[in-house]
Amino acid sequence: MVKGLDTLNEHQLIKEYFSDVGSAYLAQHDISVPVGDDAAVFNSPIGKETVISVDTSIEDVHFFKSMHASDIAYRSVSIALSDLAACGALPSWFTLAISLNQIDKNWLSDFKVGLEDISNELEIPLIGGDTTKGNTSITVQVGGYIDKGKAIKRTGAKVGDSIYVTGSIGEASSALDDFKKNSIETKVNTRYSRPKIRFTLASKLIGIASSAIDVSDGLFQDLDHICQASKVGAMVELKKIPTFLNQALSIQDINRGDDYEILFTSNKSNKGKILKISKEENIPITEIGLVTKGNELKIKTGEGELVKSSSGYQHF
Ligand code: ADP
Ligand code: MG
Repeated sequence: MVKGLDTLNEHQLIKEYFSDVGSAYLAQHDISVPVGDDAAVFNSPIGKETVISVDTSIEDVHFFKSMHASDIAYRSVSIALSDLAACGALPSWFTLAISLNQIDKNWLSDFKVGLEDISNELEIPLIGGDTTKGNTSITVQVGGYIDKGKAIKRTGAKVGDSIYVTGSIGEASSALDDFKKNSIETKVNTRYSRPKIRFTLASKLIGIASSAIDVSDGLFQDLDHICQASKVGAMVELKKIPTFLNQALSIQDINRGDDYEILFTSNKSNKGKILKISKEENIPITEIGLVTKGNELKIKTGEGELVKSSSGYQHF
């Protein structure tokens, strides 16, 4: 194979880099027509509902040219999958619409490794997509299943529910700072480049969480989405928010996003069950506040002061 830049037509490119990613997992997800035909064809399991989401990753916003191509691929698929976890669904397949300025075989080979890494980790195949020439952008659609009527939505938070968050907050955005400050050779901390999605934990929250969202744009902003959707307010204690440094971060630093943790609400009576899930999964789940009446998100700081939340990452 010729190294580096080279000409391949679109069909050769698809065949070489996208046609067999995760093909070992087609049968277990009942996919009868994968990459290569006009469209993918699959069967949905009886008694389940299909959950679908799509996310676009753009250069200089969601990833950086200087990142390793395998990390760019992994991250693009992972952050799209995060929305399925937030609903409690388990993933079954993904599609990839990719736009590239040029064909760089080395880059594409590395990119394929990242696709295979996430595909093998979760045992899900790449079942279709689109390949075009243009400014680099990566759109990943993900699909999965959940028992009928069981999807955890943003709309179910009730006044008096406790607010919980999985894992810890702030490491991904801090890793991103280091990466931007240092030379292009610096490896980005995997917490940013390869976020691990909390699928098993989230699926165990079905019937326990009254609402949930993944922390992508910033904890306070994402909690505010739950508040708006559920028509409730929230009161969060800043010092209770688990951070990667085991010490309180500023409101701004907590709200930077890219954490891909699960933020959820649950009736107080479920505390024991939540502790048990945390132990089983060996992932901390921390109570950080309460769902309140009204529509405001308030943050209690160390000084006992109440501040209204600032906004997190804004795309526009
Ligand atoms: P069409 O012109 O009918 O849209 P394409 O040439 O775009 O067909 O795609 C041919 C096949 O390759 C289809 O099955 C499509 O889903 C798949 N495909 C194209 N690009 C990608 C990609 N980036 N990743 C995965 N599958 C792809
Ligand atoms: Mg096409």
